[in-house]
Amino acid sequence: MNLASTVEKIDIASLLPGELEAFCRENGQPAYRAAQLFSFLQSGASLEEMSSLPKSFRAFLAENCLFTLPSVEEKLVSAIDGTVKYLFRLHDGECVESVFMRYKHGNTLCISSQVGCRMGCAFCASTIGGKIRDLLPSELVGQILAAQRDTGEKVSNIVMMGIGEPLDNYENVLRFLKLVNHEKGLHIGYRHISLSTCGLAEGILRLARENLPITLSISLHAVTDEKRSALMPVNRRYPIKELLAACVAYYKTTERRISFEYTLIAGKNDTVEEARALAALLKNAFRGTKAPLHVNLIRVNEVKESGFSRPDKEGARRFAEALLAEGVNATVRRRLGADVNAACGQLRRKTLKEKGQKENKE
Ligand code: SAH
Repeated sequence: MNLASTVEKIDIASLLPGELEAFCRENGQPAYRAAQLFSFLQSGASLEEMSSLPKSFRAFLAENCLFTLPSVEEKLVSAIDGTVKYLFRLHDGECVESVFMRYKHGNTLCISSQVGCRMGCAFCASTIGGKIRDLLPSELVGQILAAQRDTGEKVSNIVMMGIGEPLDNYENVLRFLKLVNHEKGLHIGYRHISLSTCGLAEGILRLARENLPITLSISLHAVTDEKRSALMPVNRRYPIKELLAACVAYYKTTERRISFEYTLIAGKNDTVEEARALAALLKNAFRGTKAPLHVNLIRVNEVKESGFSRPDKEGARRFAEALLAEGVNATVRRRLGADVNAACGQLRRKTLKEKGQKENKE
C-alpha cells in the first residue's frame, strides 16, 4: 500500500485563525503566517497564488494538506433573471448544487450542506439516493468562494437551503458560520445568513444556546402530525408540538424572527381550512411572546419520482389571504431562475443518472 495515502491530510481551510496559529507553530512557522494563511484560504487562493509564503512552506502544505475548493462542473444561467445554478464538483468527485441569485439588496447564494440527505421528505429530490457524506466547513465556504470567483461578484447573503439538512451536520455548519463571519475571512454578518431545517428540535435548541443572530427557517409543510409524518419522516422523531416548543425557545434566546416554510402540494395540504389551522397553530405556540409570525409559501416543484403536483397561483393566493386574515404574515415566494430551477437536488440527480447510463453502456 502506498504509505502517503494512509496519512490523513489536514483540511486547513476549515481551521479558525487560532487553530492555524497552532498549526504554523507546530510546523516551524512564525505565528504571523497564520493570519496570512487564513486570508489566503478564505479568499479561495490557490497554492500558486500564495506567493508571499516561503516556497518550502508551500511545498509542505501541498504535501500535507487537503485542498477542497469546489470546481464548476456545470452551470445554468437563467435567461429570465440571470440566476445561476451551479453543479460543483468536490475534491473526491462528489457533486453538490448552489444557486446564485441577484436581489436589490445584494447577491444571495443558496448552498448545500451535505452530499445527498437522509431525512426522506416525500417531495424532495435531494433525499432520493440517501446521504453520501457531510460537507466539510471548508466546502461550505468553498461554494461561496467558487461562486464569487466565477461571477466576479460578491455574495452578501447566504441561505442554507440547498441539498442536505444543515442541523444533521451540526459541528461543521457551526464552524462554517464562524469562518464566514470572521472579519479576516468573508466577513458576512450573521444577520445575512439563513439556515433552513426540516425540524431537528434538538439541533434547534443547541443552536439557540450559541445565540448567533442568524435567521432560522423551519420547513413545516403540514399542520397535523399525521400529515406531516407522511410527508416528512423526521416528524415521527420530533412531532409538531416539540418542534414548535424548540422554535419558541430559539426565539426567546435570540429574539430573531423565525420564518416558516410551507410547500403547497395540490390536494395534500393546500386548503383554506389548513391555512386557518396553520395560523392557529403558530399563534398558539407563540402566545405570550412578541414574535412576528411569518410564513413563506412555495408551490411545490414537481419531482417526477414523488408524483406530487403544484396548486395553481390562485390557490396559493387564497391560502396566503387566509393566513393574513388571521394576522399571520405570508408571502408567496417568487421563483427566481424558473427556467434553470430544476427543483433543488435535481441537477445532481440528472448528472448522476446520465453518468450511470454512460457507465452502463461502456
Ligand atoms: N433540509 C433543510 C434545507 C434544504 S430544503 C430543510 O428541510 O429545510 C430547502 C427547502 O425546500 C425546504 O423548505 C424544503 O422542504 C423545500 N423543498 C424541498 N423539495 C421541494 C420541492 N420539490 N418543492 C418545493 N419545495 C421543496
